[in-house]
Amino acid sequence: MFREILAKIEYYHTIIIHRHMKPDPDALGSQVGLKKIITHNFPDKRVLVTGHNEPTLDWITHMDEVTDSDYQDALVIVTDTANTPRIDDKRYASGAFLIKIDHHPNDDSYGDICYVDTTASSTSEIICDFAQTVGLSLSDEAARLLYIGIIGDTGRFLYPATSSKTLAIASYLRQFPFDFSALSRQMDSFPLKIAKLQGYVFEHLEIDPTGAACVLLTQEILKKFDVTDAETAAIVGSPGKIDSIKAWAIFVEQADKHYRVRLRSKDKVINAIAKRHDGGGHPLASGANSYSAAENAQIFQELKELFL
Ligand code: AMP
Repeated sequence: MFREILAKIEYYHTIIIHRHMKPDPDALGSQVGLKKIITHNFPDKRVLVTGHNEPTLDWITHMDEVTDSDYQDALVIVTDTANTPRIDDKRYASGAFLIKIDHHPNDDSYGDICYVDTTASSTSEIICDFAQTVGLSLSDEAARLLYIGIIGDTGRFLYPATSSKTLAIASYLRQFPFDFSALSRQMDSFPLKIAKLQGYVFEHLEIDPTGAACVLLTQEILKKFDVTDAETAAIVGSPGKIDSIKAWAIFVEQADKHYRVRLRSKDKVINAIAKRHDGGGHPLASGANSYSAAENAQIFQELKELFL
């Protein structure tokens, strides 16, 4: 299927690349990494990236200005996005041809071409695999972006989705002259206010004897620590540092009073719980939405029951 994707890239002059809302490093790395590969190999093509510019990730990259008329006769590629409601920028449907490239479970198989590899650690890994397979070369910036995506989604090679192929691709990317150490340091650091929020999380985690844990971050707490919903990404993995914790939920109250639920697990599959609560995601890293304190309690109960 990589050859079919390449044929479409060769055919269209304008290519617009989308990714999911609330982007993470893999969403941005795969989206803009693909753009850099295409422009490096086909300098005459017009390649645009669209979506919200996430302020906490502006050190990674920026989006382009994309007008409605740009979509005329354009190829649209969506990276790292499991389902259409989560695609950032609804104009994705107004191009001439649509391609999905993703590594999440393929619950919503959209696009004229749909390439999904759930064994890949990240969509950035798939983009690099694609380039290598069809013989496209990488620019230094493409390598930097794809490397960011891979270390973002693997927790710097910690999570089980890290395969020998992931490491081989990371090794290939590491040969390019981007500042690997500064980048790793950047992704491992956070502002003091996030360190304080992490302290709050450790202090207030409810840990069940089964190994299920949860914590609630209300709007009041976010305000107190001066953090945005997006900035909570920096502490999502923190409960996993505690040896007795096996799976956890972080309930983040939103301005409209519903809760964004961030679910993580070391081993047991949790995305079925996410799907039951207006969400989805990977087997060990999912997100959901809860609409009451009672639903939060229900989600925590479901998490505990995994271990009974
Ligand atoms: P997060 O906790 O937001 O970092 O999300 C973890 C994983 O779950 C990501 O791969 C997301 O794509 C996925 N995810 C998060 N929220 C949702 C949702 N509401 N619906 C489907 N998938 C989601």
